[in-house]
Amino acid sequence: METVPPRSGSANVLAGKAAAAVNADEVVRLTRELVRIPSVYRPDDPAGNETAVAAYLAGHLSRLGLRVSVHEAAPGRPNVVADWTSGRRGRGLILEGHTDVVTEGDRSAWSHPPFDAEVSGGRIYGRGAADMKGGLAAAACALDAVRRAAPDLPGRVRIAAVADEEGMMLGIKSFIRDGHAQGFDGAIVCEPEENEICLRQKGAMRVLVSFTGKMAHGAMPYAGVNPIPAAARFVTLLAEEDRRQQEGHERDPHLGLPHITPTTIRAPAHGEPQFNVMAGEARVTVDVRTIPGQNHADLHRAICELANAAQADDPCVRVTVELVEDRPWTETPPWDPLVRAIERAFLESMGREPRYGGVPGSTDGTFLHAWARIPVVTIGPGNRQIPHQADEYVEVGELVEAARLYAAAIVYFLGEEAAPNGARRCWRGDAAEEEGHDS
Ligand SMILES: [Zn+2]
Repeated sequence: METVPPRSGSANVLAGKAAAAVNADEVVRLTRELVRIPSVYRPDDPAGNETAVAAYLAGHLSRLGLRVSVHEAAPGRPNVVADWTSGRRGRGLILEGHTDVVTEGDRSAWSHPPFDAEVSGGRIYGRGAADMKGGLAAAACALDAVRRAAPDLPGRVRIAAVADEEGMMLGIKSFIRDGHAQGFDGAIVCEPEENEICLRQKGAMRVLVSFTGKMAHGAMPYAGVNPIPAAARFVTLLAEEDRRQQEGHERDPHLGLPHITPTTIRAPAHGEPQFNVMAGEARVTVDVRTIPGQNHADLHRAICELANAAQADDPCVRVTVELVEDRPWTETPPWDPLVRAIERAFLESMGREPRYGGVPGSTDGTFLHAWARIPVVTIGPGNRQIPHQADEYVEVGELVEAARLYAAAIVYFLGEEAAPNGARRCWRGDAAEEEGHDS
């Protein structure tokens, strides 16, 4: 009795070989090397950027035999692009990660120095160990393993190691604008998600609302126009809208509820506050976090209407609403070939059931999905809560598992027949439709 079709059987063998070909010591070594090159972006420090770590990575990937090119997303903010193909036509897959890390903050809060990459108790400690030099190292070692174990695999794989994810995501935006995402059928975003398959990530909008009046002496408020009461009404109206949105949407099993949060309120908008000076301008920053199903254009309109309603009682106050950043939520259907490839990698090569999760923030994958229309799965080594904290770490076991998982997933994804058309990309991609611009 035949139970396993021969082609699938051979894919399992090849995926298993690729996973086994991952050199665990090398994944650890590379992660540590990358952590030791600080890549915190400090605009006032000429060396405070991604250049050194990008150069190291570019050299390493070239030595592995990949075709490497470096592109500046902005001066001193390089993206590294590394390609591998056997020459046979087939699917294209991107493994994506960012090279920048957030600041180490107060060094005395660390019990392991932030850029020493110490190994202790099965963990590598350091800024960026989880977010996400571990993920980048796992991707590089996975592709190297595939190249050695499955040299005839059809299709192509591109490693994208981009700058500025922790800022305005200039790196991935430039990568997409330069056409580097074109012609690819899927992307694995190697962010720290505890090796959980994340098919959904929250969207985000940053909205700056300014109420402008006229500055005056506190003893003579009638000589000016006070913008503060309108700003206060706006914040109250926002809280009602937050409740409305939460009541109008079901809690997402992985992402929870949407939130509209006024994060800062400043009056005066510039300079020192003084008791006896009535501010001429009040500014409210609003951080909006969305879940699949919400429409960003509608939300933006609603916030504009609330700002206008707040100002209606003070006709002399001028209000402006600026959408500073718009990052749509993303959702990849569970039947997408990339999802199936990763699930098979878990079941066949890792010998365990996959776990599923969701991405609470946005990642570079947001723009790969929204602008480049590529299905994305976010999955990578590292505790989801640990990024940006002191004593950031990545578990060595999880790190090596990620590399083996990527290697097997590449084989399953590239080894499968390509879908007859790209229809799957239209699946609920509606929210991303109009996202062709930068903020
Ligand atoms: Zn990250």
